[in-house]
Amino acid sequence: MSTGRLIIDLDAVVANWRALDSMTNCKTAAVVKANGYGLGAANVSKALFKAGVRQFFIAVAEEAVAIREELGPKPEVCVFSGHMKGDTDLIRDLGLTPMLNSVEQLTHHLETLPGHPFGIQLDTGMNRLGLEMQEWAAVAELALAQQPRLVMSHLACADEPDHPMNPYQLAQFHKMTDGIQVPRSLAATGGILLGPDYHFDLTRPGIGLYGGLPFETAAPAVELDLPVIQIRDVAEGEVVGYGNAWQAERPSRIATVSGGYADGITRILSDKATLYHGDTPCPLVGRVSMDLLTIDVTDLTEVPTKLSLIGPNQTVDDLARAANTIGYEVLTQLGARYNRKTFGK
Ligand SMILES: *Cc1c(COP(=O)(O)O)cnc(C)c1O
Repeated sequence: MSTGRLIIDLDAVVANWRALDSMTNCKTAAVVKANGYGLGAANVSKALFKAGVRQFFIAVAEEAVAIREELGPKPEVCVFSGHMKGDTDLIRDLGLTPMLNSVEQLTHHLETLPGHPFGIQLDTGMNRLGLEMQEWAAVAELALAQQPRLVMSHLACADEPDHPMNPYQLAQFHKMTDGIQVPRSLAATGGILLGPDYHFDLTRPGIGLYGGLPFETAAPAVELDLPVIQIRDVAEGEVVGYGNAWQAERPSRIATVSGGYADGITRILSDKATLYHGDTPCPLVGRVSMDLLTIDVTDLTEVPTKLSLIGPNQTVDDLARAANTIGYEVLTQLGARYNRKTFGK
């Protein structure tokens, strides 16, 4: 097998969901957008369904196909992008719950699918999706008369517990929703960790399920090993890779491994990433190629057959830091051509 081996631990995902669920006294849904943050939406939602999850969130209606194929009609599948023109057939045929986010969407939904379930998305300051205060005031009575399944908003800075935006958005959400007889939801992973004031009736964790920050005690859900294709010795002064970007300062041993930017290992990691052989760090030298990395294994006492990019010595967030990004992006960029081994329920 010449592609990287991506090990996906569904028991860890389930354990993370249980841990987040146990932090609140309300219901806990699961966000499985972007193919379950890169881990596989069908596998992930199947494992979580078995563990008791009955409400899933996705970004766009098309993402529901894989989930309905796996789980059938039972769980509620909610769509953050709401009811866009062109989504009507999918929303009806797959029984989806769009989180309507504008007056236009609300009108469109009530006209095209009267009586079909929906939720409402409010903007409490992030200015990304959702009805603003005045818009909501204008349509709240009409919308609430149709008994929405959920009224929700999203926090912009929940990964920074002391950020003044958190209490500000909380106050806005109260102003807009206090007294309504509909379940409310404000918290994703970060919001759960902010404490009970933020929990309302339902939480919507994503990244925490998959082992990422800000859920610091999460169980890691993925490991990634890259196979060594070839090993060579280079003399002091010899160069490695595109652009001669690295030059040996001592006689060195270079391992060329399978994996590159086409697999989501961003080029920004050129000369920056570290791979591991057991506990021994091995620096990536030179540029990340489309399908290959060159690794300095001079200090190893044995010849490696594979090197670890994500594992016990380097978490998804460690790798994200080296790449100047966040764990969310590392996970959702995990390559499609890896040899994926999914284990657990
Ligand atoms: C992605 C997303 C979530 C999940 O957020 P995490 O930070 O991954 O827990 C929840 N709600 C909305 C609206 C989102 O877009």
